[in-house]
Amino acid sequence: MKTYVKKDTCIGCGSCTYIAENVFEIGEDGLAQVKGNEEKIEVSEEEKDNVQDAAESCPTRAIVVEE
Ligand code: SF4
Repeated sequence: MKTYVKKDTCIGCGSCTYIAENVFEIGEDGLAQVKGNEEKIEVSEEEKDNVQDAAESCPTRAIVVEE
């Protein structure tokens, strides 16, 4: 599973950084990003559920999950 944040869709609500705090962070632009500012990462086994929850909870569907 891979994930990334669509910056043009994110509104910076911060929800994903609580649900999957090990994967997402708010960047200097006030929008979410994968930690370390990588465009797309491979999600570790232990973070998969959190990333799925974050994606489903995102109010603007800005988190992309690819199987
Ligand atoms: Fe952005 Fe969605 Fe994360 Fe909110 S939950 S900060 S809108 S990616």
